[in-house]
Amino acid sequence: MTNDVIEKADKVMAATYSRFPIVLTQGEGCTLYDETGGTYTDFVAGIAVCNLGHAHPGIARAIADQARRLVHVSNLYYTEPQTALAEWLVEHSFADRVFFCNSGAEANEAAIKLVRKYFKDRGAPERFRIITMEGSFHGRTIATLSATGQAKIQKGFEPLVEGFDIVPFNDLDAVQDVITGQTCAIMLEPIQGEGGVRCPASGYLEGLRNLCDQERLLLVFDEVQTGMGRTGKLFAYEHFGMTPDIMTLAKALANGLPMGAMLAKERVAASFTPGSHASTFGGTPLVATAALTVVKALVEEGVLRNCERVGQYFKDRLLDLKSKYAFIQEVRGKGLLLGLDLDCDGVSIVKTCMERGFLINCTQEHILRFIPPLIIQEGQIDSLIVCLDAVFQNLSNKSKK
Ligand SMILES: *Cc1c(COP(=O)(O)O)cnc(C)c1O
Repeated sequence: MTNDVIEKADKVMAATYSRFPIVLTQGEGCTLYDETGGTYTDFVAGIAVCNLGHAHPGIARAIADQARRLVHVSNLYYTEPQTALAEWLVEHSFADRVFFCNSGAEANEAAIKLVRKYFKDRGAPERFRIITMEGSFHGRTIATLSATGQAKIQKGFEPLVEGFDIVPFNDLDAVQDVITGQTCAIMLEPIQGEGGVRCPASGYLEGLRNLCDQERLLLVFDEVQTGMGRTGKLFAYEHFGMTPDIMTLAKALANGLPMGAMLAKERVAASFTPGSHASTFGGTPLVATAALTVVKALVEEGVLRNCERVGQYFKDRLLDLKSKYAFIQEVRGKGLLLGLDLDCDGVSIVKTCMERGFLINCTQEHILRFIPPLIIQEGQIDSLIVCLDAVFQNLSNKSKK
């Protein structure tokens, strides 16, 4: 059966993913099951999507109830779940207004469109260039891949969209040097996810905020991965005592149902008027209901608190491993967005862990990334650490021979 699905998929699906040879059928909490009865503890969570774990009963109930009532209507009309979700987001963030869409890339597209429009509206059409960072990831649409500071994402899709100046991450001088009369915004992830769990240097984000204020630029935070509690706070910007002008969300927003959002301060959001932008599915009642259940659970079910506490515990255990194995260069991250930077191949480690019942992720070929559901417990982390310890021990024995 497994081979059957894999064989068929490899024949008819666009070959855009290199997949692991398992067929997943079911999940519960932090556990996933495959077709052969194999079980896995999930430290990937759909790539930082299923923050409340799989098959969360409250979300399942909310989706089922809403599906019987109303799945979709056009944004030509008002609906209650969408309104309630926007209210919640505005109440719990720096922002005044929300635009709903269906993915991270779409949320970033909305942000890019909004900053361009904002300066057009102010009689400065020459200001359209956005500064982004090396190693960033903003999506796969033609504009968002143009914003992304990774050659491997852009290669083959030229010509890129004009207007992105990419500078090294964590280098304030480099940002200052590239600002011209055409610059309109700085856009970045407060912690780079796909780029390898790279954290901002102390004072860096605050420095960017100051630069934006001085030069009258807009600051856009891509919190598609870091948002919705992933770092132990609802939004990562809260760690740094400052706020962006625009923030994008997606991934965990509806715990696996497709949803993105672009949030902005009133002064900026005012540049989106009827006809400026739209999305057929954006904020549809079914998905908004799921998201509303998610955001309430993050706060009311103690999920944020768990993320902060267990994230620190997890990081300490990874540091224990680092003190044991010389090929571990660094342990990085905040909350439950953690990375282990290795000076050896990480992909083979991911495969071995999968065979031993743990799903983990590797990015940039040598950085193990851990992004489990935020409900994960110490015992599950202990089990993974035992597995990693054994795998690392084998590795170091091999390299000694
Ligand atoms: C995943 C991700 C995106 C793209 O999201 P999609 O939903 O795949 O379009 C954009 N930015 C960041 C920081 C991400 O992690």
